[in-house]
Amino acid sequence: MQQGTGRPVFSGVAIGPAYVYRREQRELPGACGDAAAEQKKFDAARETARAQLTGLFEKTRREIGEEQAMILDVQIMMLDDMDYLDGVRDMIAGGASAAQAARETGDAFSAAFAALEDPYMQARAVDIRDMAERIVTILCGGKSGFSMTAPGILVAEDLTPSETVQLPKDKILAFITRQGSSNSHIAILARIMNIPSLVQAQIALDPELEGKQMIVDGFEGRYYVEPDEATLAAMTQKRDEAQAYRLRLEAYRGVPTVSVGGRRIKLLANIGSPEDVKTALDCDAEGVGLLRSEFMYLGRSSFPTEEELFEGYRSVVEQLAGRPLVIRTLDIGADKQVDYFGLEKEENPALGYRGIRICLTREDIFRPQMRAIYRASAFGPLSVMFPMIISVEEVRRIKAFCGKIQAELAAEGVPFGEVELGIMIETPAAAIMSRELAKEVQFFSVGTNDLTQYTLAIDRQNAKLDEFYDAHHPAVLALLQTIVDNAHAEGIWAGICGELGADISLTETFLRMGYDELSVSPSRVLELRKKVCESEV
Ligand code: PEP
Ligand code: MG
Repeated sequence: MQQGTGRPVFSGVAIGPAYVYRREQRELPGACGDAAAEQKKFDAARETARAQLTGLFEKTRREIGEEQAMILDVQIMMLDDMDYLDGVRDMIAGGASAAQAARETGDAFSAAFAALEDPYMQARAVDIRDMAERIVTILCGGKSGFSMTAPGILVAEDLTPSETVQLPKDKILAFITRQGSSNSHIAILARIMNIPSLVQAQIALDPELEGKQMIVDGFEGRYYVEPDEATLAAMTQKRDEAQAYRLRLEAYRGVPTVSVGGRRIKLLANIGSPEDVKTALDCDAEGVGLLRSEFMYLGRSSFPTEEELFEGYRSVVEQLAGRPLVIRTLDIGADKQVDYFGLEKEENPALGYRGIRICLTREDIFRPQMRAIYRASAFGPLSVMFPMIISVEEVRRIKAFCGKIQAELAAEGVPFGEVELGIMIETPAAAIMSRELAKEVQFFSVGTNDLTQYTLAIDRQNAKLDEFYDAHHPAVLALLQTIVDNAHAEGIWAGICGELGADISLTETFLRMGYDELSVSPSRVLELRKKVCESEV
């Protein structure tokens, strides 16, 4: 038996034969004398690539979802990138063949993107290579493809977006890739397909591996090749138990989230972008309790316009079709840095210029976001909450600002609806002052990730401190009780949107404390509903 590890991107266990995928290596035509003819060939191949990608975009949108389809949309845009086209033209003018120019320019661009610091931009490196290889394939004839005839475990170096959309999905039991990250296309697909998968796996793409029996353990981040009897028996049992558990969870789809004792709690999802709404609804979330809006500012080189923000929020409101939505305003700073904000390096960024502190001092940033949020409220229910609050004074400034935005929109004749105002309670100061703060707003949502970090004085990013980072610390639990008591004393509702909300060992505690809402990662919704429905509270 051979075994190894990888970074798990979806849990579960799969057992089946290995299918090793290797990209076809193509011999490219060498240097060529007729530059005009080569340029013509390149232009024609580019148009064929556009037609193929447009077809794939529609197919992917129908069969997999918006998020994967958008990857192809990015590639369609890259076909018109002037820098790429100029690079190709220069190479062809210098005597290269169309295919050589397409590939080498693509490789150079891809390497430049891979070297960027921003993870979103890094991830685009694979899109550029994929787009360029499509043109090369068209120019040289031949096609990439999968020849899986029976269900198996796909082992690959990496899979490009074009490859992932052509996968025979009904035959794939698990993915193992040597490259990729937890946000790579293959990881996203694994989560959408609900199949155990490993990225960054320590595995050789040995032809000998083909057809051998393999096990992928997505819980532990392990794989086994030709497992011994004991491993096979243990893993078969683990797989069957995981499948049975998931099936049992399905029974909680569409069921009200009410405990045995009759306590009802709202179960919503945390999302980062309009594309995630589908996942949230697929997971049976009752709405969105936290839209981390800063993700609309990450992975780009300039501020989103009011119009872009409005379209994003409107899309979320419309997809939710009347279900509740809480948008959290920009929480840039600390672990989420964006170059174009031009923020200075700080000694202690978690205690620095971040979240609401930026918004309250940069009206040029806050205004477009608040206008976009109010405008989107004309299309369905929408609440807004503000991160990193520490004082009543801040909340009053925010409310005055919101009043100004409403007056502005009204004067312009721009429609907007009722917007509930809430705050995140994620600093000890806000927890301690929660009785006073509750008089100012309509709801609280507790950010336990930051509340724990600031209460325990432990950097949530520092893996070295994991053994000290105790989210169940009595100080944190005492603050959680204080917050909900003070909210209720002033007649407003309180929820939890930090990671702790999904901790099923605390679900009964939260019910007993009196929390009205939990907002968690979409994939945790059914598990949590089961836990609530089985609670005696
Ligand atoms: C939190 O702090 O718990 C929270 C939900 O916000 P974020 O994780 O985005 O800081
Ligand atoms: Mg936070």
